[in-house]
Amino acid sequence: MRTFLGGSGQEGEESIGGGQTLEIGVFGKNAAAFVEDAVGRAARAHQPAQAAAVDSRAACVYLGGLMRILVIGGGGREHALVWKLRQGPRVEKIWCAPGNGGISQDAECVAADLKDVTGLATLAERLGADLTVVGPELPLVEGIADEFGRRGRAIVGPSKQAARLEGSKVFAKEFLARHDIPTAALYGVYDSPGDAYSALCAVDWPVVVKADGLCAGKGVLVTSSPDEATAFLERLMEQKELGEGGSRVLMEEALEGEELSYIVLTDGRDVLPLPPTRDHKRVFDGNQGPNTGGMGTYSMDGLISAELENAILERIVRPAIAGMVAEGAPYRGFLYFGLMLTRNGPKVLEFNCRLGDPEAQAILVRADFDLADVLHAAATEGLGGKALAWKEGASACVVMASAGYPGEIEAGKRIEGLAEASEVNDVVVFHAGTKREAATYYTSGGRVFGLTATGASLEQALTKCYEAAGKIRFEGAHYRKDIGAVAAGKRSAAGD
Ligand code: ATP
Repeated sequence: MRTFLGGSGQEGEESIGGGQTLEIGVFGKNAAAFVEDAVGRAARAHQPAQAAAVDSRAACVYLGGLMRILVIGGGGREHALVWKLRQGPRVEKIWCAPGNGGISQDAECVAADLKDVTGLATLAERLGADLTVVGPELPLVEGIADEFGRRGRAIVGPSKQAARLEGSKVFAKEFLARHDIPTAALYGVYDSPGDAYSALCAVDWPVVVKADGLCAGKGVLVTSSPDEATAFLERLMEQKELGEGGSRVLMEEALEGEELSYIVLTDGRDVLPLPPTRDHKRVFDGNQGPNTGGMGTYSMDGLISAELENAILERIVRPAIAGMVAEGAPYRGFLYFGLMLTRNGPKVLEFNCRLGDPEAQAILVRADFDLADVLHAAATEGLGGKALAWKEGASACVVMASAGYPGEIEAGKRIEGLAEASEVNDVVVFHAGTKREAATYYTSGGRVFGLTATGASLEQALTKCYEAAGKIRFEGAHYRKDIGAVAAGKRSAAGD
């Protein structure tokens, strides 16, 4: 086996003994440091015998060797991450904390408290994970990347400072203004209910009211009704229905247009865009019913023009990445831009400091590259020289949910038909709210599955998703029948 590391200048080549001989060419001004670091890691993680047998000038097993990865989270997004990471030729082992029933077939699930960042870092240390990939926002906003950094452990995800782009809507709004990035006009930020009620007299209608902190997707109201706005403010600020996240609010202009999810992977300098997606937030067909965490999503070649994508990158993405560097909080990891495509160009509605769910499922089934390798680079030496390749055509993800979702649900329903659904061509059944007992699966959450497929066209991808959905049965199961309908041009109901 032979591995070469990038750089320029002097070239060296050495080999080591052990069960197998590995030759590594190292060149460039940091070659010695690379080797020393790598030998140390090999000794800690994988091949103590071989590593002990070489000195710091020798090559090591680690750089061409195997990877052990911890994925944090337990939904459909994390199942998609685990599924794609597993395909990496260097991936030796994957744990998922806490994971779910379906993930437990693809990775070893370990119990975890997502708020306890110290506990999660200790878990990664105990497991000897070379790389940790964080799915949900909570541990990121709580500072998991900083804790891993203090302990010298590789992690994909932004620091606590950088994660404020999602953790505080007021910070995000002020950041956008500081860097002249297009967004809805801000009417004001309010810390007291009295000031917020008074402000309603001076805003244009419809108005958008947003809680500052994390509110599990329930902290935003777009309304034309002063009564509704007042009632929402009362629930947020006085009754604290959504917790501390609602004690401060902002109000902004309501934008009109089509929404787009645009996600990039960045190391703070280089930016690798993922395919743009559209999601469907309302629970029922035709955008009826309450908002959810997402009922389905799709991506397809040509979803946006090259010109629009260029505008998004140049007017929004690059200024945001550079702005975070300029503010001393370089952003590393996945950064999600929730955009409104208005008549006056794309504008930022929100940031998320992670992959979206279910966007991640539709994106990762199109990934035609070694995700483990790219994420390891994002967390360590940087993304310079890396490129992402995508399967041509389209993909879609249809979310199957429990009765009552997004409200109260009754868990523990027995699930049938999974094997048949998995047999549909090009379909991957990603599990979100399931638990497994031996070979039997039961529901354990609101969103239960993401039926995800690729296809030469969006219509083909959707047909496969719906064929798979038709094979899965559990009491109360429901899903939208019009995911991607407008874009695929085959159903009449409107997409979000
Ligand atoms: P998520 O669960 O997606 O993270 P969130 O609670 O962080 O949601 P936002 O994404 O900021 O909230 O807003 C939720 C939705 O509200 C948006 O997807 C969009 O449909 C709508 N919205 C937000 N801001 C505006 C705006 N300025 N104009 C029009 N609609 C808006």
